[in-house]
Amino acid sequence: MAQSKHYDLIVIGSGPGGYVGAIRAAQLGLKVACVERGKLGGVCLNWGCIPTKALLHGAELYQEAVTHGTEWGINIDPSAVSVDWDKVMGRSREITGSLNNGVGFLFKKNKIDHYEGHAKITSGRTSATPCTVEISEADDDYYSGTGGKNSGTLTADNVMIATGAAPNELPFPRAMARRSCRATTHSRSPNARSPWSSSVPERSAWNSPTSSTRSAPR
Ligand SMILES: Cc1cc2nc3c(=O)[nH]c(=O)nc-3n(C[C@H](O)[C@H](O)[C@H](O)COP(=O)(O)OP(=O)(O)OC[C@H]3O[C@@H](n4cnc5c(N)ncnc54)[C@H](O)[C@@H]3O)c2cc1C
Repeated sequence: MAQSKHYDLIVIGSGPGGYVGAIRAAQLGLKVACVERGKLGGVCLNWGCIPTKALLHGAELYQEAVTHGTEWGINIDPSAVSVDWDKVMGRSREITGSLNNGVGFLFKKNKIDHYEGHAKITSGRTSATPCTVEISEADDDYYSGTGGKNSGTLTADNVMIATGAAPNELPFPRAMARRSCRATTHSRSPNARSPWSSSVPERSAWNSPTSSTRSAPR
């Protein structure tokens, strides 16, 4: 990475807050960089809204056909139905992959420089000097990573912090806690074999009576 490249705006985080802000700023004529330590699109595109809706649609298809099919004259023997979980998860991951690439495409189209890594503001703007943002190698901790080896420094007149939020640990008994997991854990695990009812963890503001997990507001 070129050392100390200067921008009008550096956006930290590329979730719906960050990528939309970055694109709008670029459209308004600013020279913009976006630093993202995970996947482009943040929680929404990669682990939250989009993949869970794909999983929910699968659950809905199953329920409509197997549980309610006979009401519509479609007779399905539940014991003859099997769920290919790898395919269910695979389809959900495929959808997020294409949206993730879509954000990269929009960045290129709007001439936004995308830097992979963990961003840290090391100094604020003064009348004589710009903001300094250090970029380091992203570590594997999605929510609380602190970055590894320094890979460069950028400067900017403005910095937009769009780093999202982290889920709270809940004071549930152990047994119940074992049944819930974070969206990132769930969607990443290639061996995930969860019942349909636990496919929407961390629903924060959307606590629904059908969800097996309940989350505190983030
Ligand atoms: C299971 C689930 C389902 C959801 N369903 C819906 C829904 O149906 N509808 C809805 O409106 N919302 C939904 N949400 C909420 C939605 O995902 C969030 O509101 C949205 O993602 C917040 O966007 P954001 O840009 O603020 O942050 P995020 O999407 O969290 O993005 C922040 C980004 O910043 C990056 N980052 C953090 N720190 C750094 C750093 N120091 N350096 C570089 N990068 C950094 C992260 O890697 C991340 O990519 C859901 C959430 C979950 C978990």
